[in-house]
Amino acid sequence: MFNKRIKIKQLLSQEPDSQEVTVMGWVRSFRNNQFIALNDGSTNNNLQIVAELGKFNEALLKRITTSVSLKVTGLAIPSLGKGQKLEVKANTIEILGDSDAEKYPLQPKKHSLEFLREIAHLRFRTNTFGAVFRVRHALAYAVHHFFNDKGFVYLHTPVITASDAEGAGEMFRVTTLPAGNPPRTEDGSINYKEDFFGRATNLTVSGQLEGELGATALGEIYTFGPTFRAENSNTPRHLAEFWMIEPEMAFCDLEDNINLAEEFIKYIIRYAIEHNREDLEFLAQRLADEEKQLPQDKRSELGLLEKLDFVLNNNFERITYTQAIAILLQSPAYKKKKFQYEVKWGIDMQSEHERYLVEKHFKKPVIVTDYPLGIKAFYMRQNDDGKTVAAMDILAPGIGEIVGGSQREERLDKLEQRMKEMHVPAEELWWYLDTRRFGTVPHAGFGLGFERMVQFVTGMSNIRDAIAFPRTPGSAEF
Ligand code: ATP
Ligand code: MN
Repeated sequence: MFNKRIKIKQLLSQEPDSQEVTVMGWVRSFRNNQFIALNDGSTNNNLQIVAELGKFNEALLKRITTSVSLKVTGLAIPSLGKGQKLEVKANTIEILGDSDAEKYPLQPKKHSLEFLREIAHLRFRTNTFGAVFRVRHALAYAVHHFFNDKGFVYLHTPVITASDAEGAGEMFRVTTLPAGNPPRTEDGSINYKEDFFGRATNLTVSGQLEGELGATALGEIYTFGPTFRAENSNTPRHLAEFWMIEPEMAFCDLEDNINLAEEFIKYIIRYAIEHNREDLEFLAQRLADEEKQLPQDKRSELGLLEKLDFVLNNNFERITYTQAIAILLQSPAYKKKKFQYEVKWGIDMQSEHERYLVEKHFKKPVIVTDYPLGIKAFYMRQNDDGKTVAAMDILAPGIGEIVGGSQREERLDKLEQRMKEMHVPAEELWWYLDTRRFGTVPHAGFGLGFERMVQFVTGMSNIRDAIAFPRTPGSAEF
């Protein structure tokens, strides 16, 4: 009977009433042959189990080492020890699974995040990753909560796609053709007609195009699923497999889109603060300790929780791309030649530029709108100036771009003209263009990278620590 157990989180929230309880979990530490710190993943707080001296046989006690799994029954009594109001005085202790203390890689001491990445299968058992993944869960739950309350339909867009016209990033090919000796056409190229789907297919880089098909009938949809980009960029902000949330709304312009994105980000942060306060307090302390190693000028001005509160209580700054470039050109950083990359109207802003705007100039999240036509995707709505499109990026302190979105080009002639200019094959996207042929409407949407959001809320500086099993160039263990 496993379902008689009480989770430690729940037990610790109760008054000690001397009733018998059953708990299960993994041993974090065992002191003085008497005090077991038990953790079951429901909270970072360990439950103290007291094994009264003389009550249990020595052979059993010897087997209780870090990471051994236990079933314990006992009385929930007031604790005399510091830091907890309740402990369990054990009546029975059953070992569910032994563990070889010599071989167990996680010792009760501080391990580096790099080391923990190498043992990602066990890092859930640390306080840091316990907190990160509970917060990640809360954020994911809040995403569904937010959109459900607004009447959006959760649409599952395909993971395997044949459209390679989105231009969002390099794709991973999906094929069942023999790697060494694929069938060839007469001109020597690989003959995908003989492939599984009868054509070349890839893992999706974004569900947006399919999302638009849903939105232009269901009204408002969102996706929340894995996306894949074979970008060979080894940065602390890029994964080859990441989760993206992509709402798409009919009857919506750029401003509505921005308002929704800001409301959405604040909602999910607030949800995590309200439901995972203890985990966030732990992560805030972890970050503060980590930053103590840094020189003064590299440390954050605000602690993690203050930063989140600040984001909740202030409007995001809204500027156009043209204004952003003007600010950069006026900046001391530019004048002192601190930027590595060129600054002029028309550039795709580099992360150093985005960070300057967010971290040095405005010191808060910034929404940049109306980017040059030439650096953005074909489906973004052309502005009347003939030079810019109704695009928006949201930049967050410490992270950079967290959201990318736009109002979509709903005018068939403009869209077709842009596709021609950008060599996007219109024949392949006939289904996409049909939305503009049969009752087209103004519509807009955005994509939020979920791991970047998790990074922002948990304060983890490397995106590899915001997802359970990171996929990055050269690394797909576990
Ligand atoms: P970046 O310039 O940072 O590479 P992008 O312009 O390629 O981002 P979009 O194509 O607009 O990004 O994707 C939407 C969102 O998905 C981004 O705002 C970001 O939050 C997230 N994202 C994009 N690429 C990655 C990646 N490789 N790993 C994790 N998240 C990503
Ligand atoms: Mn990118």
